[in-house]
Amino acid sequence: MDDPRIPVPQPGQGFPVPETVTSIIDGQPVPARGKRIPVFYPATGRPVSTLIEADAAEVDAAVASARRAFQSSGWAQLSTEKRQQQLLAIHDTILAHADELAFLECLNLGVVMRELRERQIRRAAYNFRFFAEFIGQAKGDVYDQMAGYRSIVVREPVGVAALIAPWNAPTALASMKVAAAIAFGNTCVLKPSEQTPLAIHRFVALLHEAGLPPGVVNLVNGHGGITGEALVAHRDVDLISFTGGTETGRHIMASAGRRLKPCTMELGGKSANIIFASADIERALDAALVGIYSNNGQQCLAGSRILVERRIADDFIGRFAERARRIRIGDPMDDATELGPLASAAHRKRVLDFAETARTEGGRLIAGGAPARMTGDLAEGFFVEPTAVVAQSSRSRVCQDEIFGPFATFLTFDSYEQAIEIANDTTFGLVSYVWSDHLPTVERAGRDLRSGVVWVNTPMVRELRAPFGGYKDSGVGREGGEACQHFYTEVKTITVPTGPVAVRRLGLG
Ligand code: NAD
Repeated sequence: MDDPRIPVPQPGQGFPVPETVTSIIDGQPVPARGKRIPVFYPATGRPVSTLIEADAAEVDAAVASARRAFQSSGWAQLSTEKRQQQLLAIHDTILAHADELAFLECLNLGVVMRELRERQIRRAAYNFRFFAEFIGQAKGDVYDQMAGYRSIVVREPVGVAALIAPWNAPTALASMKVAAAIAFGNTCVLKPSEQTPLAIHRFVALLHEAGLPPGVVNLVNGHGGITGEALVAHRDVDLISFTGGTETGRHIMASAGRRLKPCTMELGGKSANIIFASADIERALDAALVGIYSNNGQQCLAGSRILVERRIADDFIGRFAERARRIRIGDPMDDATELGPLASAAHRKRVLDFAETARTEGGRLIAGGAPARMTGDLAEGFFVEPTAVVAQSSRSRVCQDEIFGPFATFLTFDSYEQAIEIANDTTFGLVSYVWSDHLPTVERAGRDLRSGVVWVNTPMVRELRAPFGGYKDSGVGREGGEACQHFYTEVKTITVPTGPVAVRRLGLG
């Protein structure tokens, strides 16, 4: 193709791709003046747009806009019913633009567009409906046990939230933060990953098209070390919600701690998927493949350590490898594709380096471990074969490090105790999966696994009312209905006597 910015053409897609992606402050795109960062289509390896990085001054303008909107746009004081209407209007607008958002997301992420259209963008819309419904049912507390007094507890918005999102599910994850922050009356500044700004930029524009007052949601783009640091360090930010890598989270929380800013940290994972011999093996096999290879393997909650009971291991692992080798790799805009490219060339190298690590650690590579050879427009894309390794020990690096790609590691166990010991043998603790039809086994595992979520006999399913988040190095705090209410509101106790009170009289001589 002549113009290297044009992606592989697809029938029926005429959505405009912005030449430059800038900040959106006070509801308006900011003129492009900062450093220029190319944005790539991972399937072709070609640039498709240019991101303009926000420096500290631009971040300051975004925070100032959010502060003005918090204090004077009326958003924080809006009646619940009016705020619900606004959130529902956003829900409808996102759904009406689902195809466009899925296309833009696919264009800088490389996740199969069908998955984006049918699940992730729908989830982004649902996040707003969920919080609209949640705030309609929220209630407060009354304490009236103390004679002559009644204390009521009210919740108020905190102020300006900094929302920092990763690249692996950009709109689904960022929208959760935005919906929660604004549903409880806060205003915010959102910083997505510099790798994946396209759909989020359109998403923030759509919030305004749906009637959101300017300044309630501002967008800044750029590298973590420049734009992200400036946002986290800003004195007028009241709270920080971060999703990303564990080391970044550690750094941000330390900085926030110095200024006593509350944080939630949704961090990395190395989740165990435990297959007992008492499981429905066919379903467990399907789910094990989905658990590691969906979203191109780039999922915090991937079931990346598959632990199989020894007496079924040979058969299970053999069939898993055979299915992994047959996964359809290809153009993520083609609905028939099952696995698209990784998000960047650097990330592909990192994932492939782990195949080498597996070999040197004595692991047995049973599928993949190499770049996927593609032809035509896709020849320079960042494709990797679905990979699976039988590891020698739970202590090996491929069982301990978060690889964040289509890379499964297998270990075997002989007893329930050994399965739990291996599952908990990690610095992470985001989620665990358990497959067994033996009730006492799943009951025990639910208690013994050290992770924030345990999914039994099911692939990943998010219940937004329930808290989601990690133990250990997988995070601090939780997201979800009530958990978000606690994070995004201040609690205030107002105590009123039920009649005139007797006040001790001083100064009467
Ligand atoms: P990352 O930590 O590199 O970046 C995340 C975000 O933080 C990006 O927007 C980045 O620009 C920004 N950032 C980086 N350094 C910063 C700094 N010093 N100050 C402020 N902001 C900074 O993570 P990533 O590579 O984008 O995402 C992958 C990671 O995210 C994986 O570890 C994955 O497990 C994790 N993740 C966790 C969840 C969860 O819910 N627990 C969900 C998705 C992804």
